[in-house]
Amino acid sequence: MLKSVTIIGGGPTGLMAADILSQHNYSVTVFERKPSLGRKFLLAGRGGLNITHSESTNDFIKKYGVNHTTFKSLINKFSPQNLRDWCESLGEKTFIGSSGRVFPQSFKASPLLRAWLSQLQTQNVTFKKKHDWLGWQDNRLLFKSENKNILIKSDFTILALGGASWPNLGSDGSWVDILKRNNIEISELQPANCGFFVNWSKVFTERFAGNPLKSIKIKYKEKTIKGEFIITKVGVEGGAIYSLSALIRDAINIEGKQKVFIDLKPDVSLEEINKSLLNKPSKLSLTNYLRKNIKLSDVAIGLIMELKHKKKFKNLNTQNLGFHIKNFELLLEKPFSIKKSISTAGGVSFKSIDSDFMLTNKPNVYVAGEMLDWEAPTGGYLLQACISSGFFVANNILKKSK
Ligand SMILES: Cc1cc2nc3c(=O)[nH]c(=O)nc-3n(C[C@H](O)[C@H](O)[C@H](O)COP(=O)(O)OP(=O)(O)OC[C@H]3O[C@@H](n4cnc5c(N)ncnc54)[C@H](O)[C@@H]3O)c2cc1C
Repeated sequence: MLKSVTIIGGGPTGLMAADILSQHNYSVTVFERKPSLGRKFLLAGRGGLNITHSESTNDFIKKYGVNHTTFKSLINKFSPQNLRDWCESLGEKTFIGSSGRVFPQSFKASPLLRAWLSQLQTQNVTFKKKHDWLGWQDNRLLFKSENKNILIKSDFTILALGGASWPNLGSDGSWVDILKRNNIEISELQPANCGFFVNWSKVFTERFAGNPLKSIKIKYKEKTIKGEFIITKVGVEGGAIYSLSALIRDAINIEGKQKVFIDLKPDVSLEEINKSLLNKPSKLSLTNYLRKNIKLSDVAIGLIMELKHKKKFKNLNTQNLGFHIKNFELLLEKPFSIKKSISTAGGVSFKSIDSDFMLTNKPNVYVAGEMLDWEAPTGGYLLQACISSGFFVANNILKKSK
């Protein structure tokens, strides 16, 4: 008789595990609480699916911070190049963008997901949608579907339940309580790649919420990031902020609000700006001068005017303005909610799993993907790690049942 594998969670992690195991002699069933699969994967594709990154393996692995040694082995087993080849095998060639990030040719997730699901169907994977996993009962997996409790016995189980961001898409971290009840150590779930609250003035948000602040540099402690971010009604979010978000979040947890410094004109030196400001004709307003001569964007000028508005800086003048253009101080109060973050930090502790990612106190139950305790920046590192970990646990099951 075929050995049975139950995969809980129909995101990219679970689907990759299903893909591998269904190519061997296993009866594979994917249980998913939502009516359709891969909802977060589809959302990830909305702004351009950044599936992996093209940098060297050494630089790639460093992005997993304290977990880089653990991730090295699984990324080596299913590498960025393997991922690109796999996309191509599903009819989606990939390309390297200017920043080294890798995208499918269509830029979207939907053609890839469609081809993937159809391949899984051909490989006889069974999908049980609208099945909510509630835990274990009498050594069986307990699901609720349409108000009925269902008990499933399985030779192997893979938990691929995701993190807790964008909970309306299915992964809401409800597994934390289930696993804690089963004495599995969980590190607190926290927002990763997230925005931060800023106490903007009403005037500023009315005018600038939704606008990007482009071509700036953000300095936080020893780190400097070049890029852009977006002003929101309640704070800031976007690429440059996400890159620093883990550091800032951890510091806020310990010390409270954190200051970052924004260079609003990174390609022009302070000396040049000061020199130009000294030549400002008195009849020209400061904002007009900043726009026309210093070439500051309206949002950047708005930020400078925030200083005045908040009376933090009464004597804004041509002598000291240059300094503030190069070192605009922004106070970040706290991270946005995990529900709005791109990904989740924290999760199932590596202390609770063995080197094959099997739970040490639940034989033949494996854990993979975003629900494990790791984090990485945006840039394709999240999907690569999830898909590689799905590949890894599937192969460990193959190895075990040989
Ligand atoms: C806006 C946005 C953009 C992103 N863009 C990118 C990007 O460009 N590149 C990148 O690398 N990453 C990106 N990510 C992150 C990436 O999408 C995730 O890291 C990835 O989807 C995690 O995969 P996963 O399979 O581990 O979890 P998920 O994709 O979250 O899948 C988990 C599945 O488990 C199901 N589930 C949860 N609990 C239960 C339960 N109790 N019973 C049954 N089913 C359950 C959920 O419904 C879900 O379908 C983005 C994320 C967001 C929010």
